[in-house]
Amino acid sequence: MIQVTSSDYNFSKHRDIAFVPTMGNLHEGHLNLIKEAKLRSCFVVVSIFINPLQFNDANDLNNYPKSIDTDIKLLEIAGCDLVFLPDESILHDIDSIKASDQSNILCGKSRPGHFDGVLTIVNRLFNIINPKIAFFGLKDYQQFILIKNYAFEHFSDLLIIGVPTSRNIAGLALSSRNNLLSAEELSLASNIYKELYKIKTNFSLNNVDLLANVAKQNLTMLGFNVDYLDYLDAFTLNEVNSSTSTIIIAIAVYLGEIRLIDNILVNEI
Ligand code: AMP
Repeated sequence: MIQVTSSDYNFSKHRDIAFVPTMGNLHEGHLNLIKEAKLRSCFVVVSIFINPLQFNDANDLNNYPKSIDTDIKLLEIAGCDLVFLPDESILHDIDSIKASDQSNILCGKSRPGHFDGVLTIVNRLFNIINPKIAFFGLKDYQQFILIKNYAFEHFSDLLIIGVPTSRNIAGLALSSRNNLLSAEELSLASNIYKELYKIKTNFSLNNVDLLANVAKQNLTMLGFNVDYLDYLDAFTLNEVNSSTSTIIIAIAVYLGEIRLIDNILVNEI
């Protein structure tokens, strides 16, 4: 596996790049993105960069889990062809990207500027690497939609693929942030997906508000601080309307200091 740290590296010598951007502390969710990339018979590039531009809380940034040596071993095993480990110089003279209005809801509401930071680094990485396909997790659903729409406008030859959320056996969405939870919190955290799944199972447009309220109450009683639990049109992230075919039910909660997100798609409405 090639290791590259310089943003001046000539990526164009590799044809048909499949790209997986990450912030490291890799888990099975990241590795599944790499598996999908490998299926495309491309040259697989994974980046690891903890992007300060997308953190609006200095503590969150400082505490973000790091495990670079293990990450590199995992990438070797996964068959990654090149790992890009840019240093902070990647941020020099970076073009700041302003995310569309879709960034002002859900996670963007409580993390102002977060998606500007995400798009700014993703735009830079796409420009440096010039991939043919890029893979993003549907766990970060709002991020996926914003990047897909941004790429559609600015990188018209680039295909953006959304990869379903990888979960542990109890249903908890895998996340680097899970490493910051105690054993007790980790087991409690599986209730997030349980509540989403209950809403999906009983879903109808007539009762979804009630179901969402019950889920919020249940989670609050268990000790979660619910930031939001919303349902929206999965393609536009607008309010559900008569042309909606798929709904996304999205949630963000705090367990202590740790912010966890998840979502579930409902197709039949
Ligand atoms: P991160 O390192 O958290 O920035 O994540 C890098 C990529 O991995 C993003 O596209 C995430 O959406 C994706 N990802 C993170 N966790 C999961 C998961 N549990 N399942 C699927 N994709 C994930």
